[in-house]
Amino acid sequence: MNDHCPSCQQDLAPEPGFYYGAMFLSYILTGWFCLAFVAVVHWVLGWSLISSFALLIAVTGILFVWFFRISRSIWIHINVKYAPKK
Ligand SMILES: [Zn+2]
Repeated sequence: MNDHCPSCQQDLAPEPGFYYGAMFLSYILTGWFCLAFVAVVHWVLGWSLISSFALLIAVTGILFVWFFRISRSIWIHINVKYAPKK
């Protein structure tokens, strides 16, 4: 992760532990994703529960990096006001 935004120079680590709250966002996003994913694969596609969870583990193993980054992005968008340069 960059220390500063390449276009607006926003400090992306304003204080130690700034992204602690992003961990909770990541947990919420991942939890709802897992519920929805298994529901769709099991009920809509008709896979068995074991197969659905095996696929879920594989998919979340790939997507956890995306959840990590999007959670940090959402967290800094909540806490840092957008101030375009004039
Ligand atoms: Zn920026």
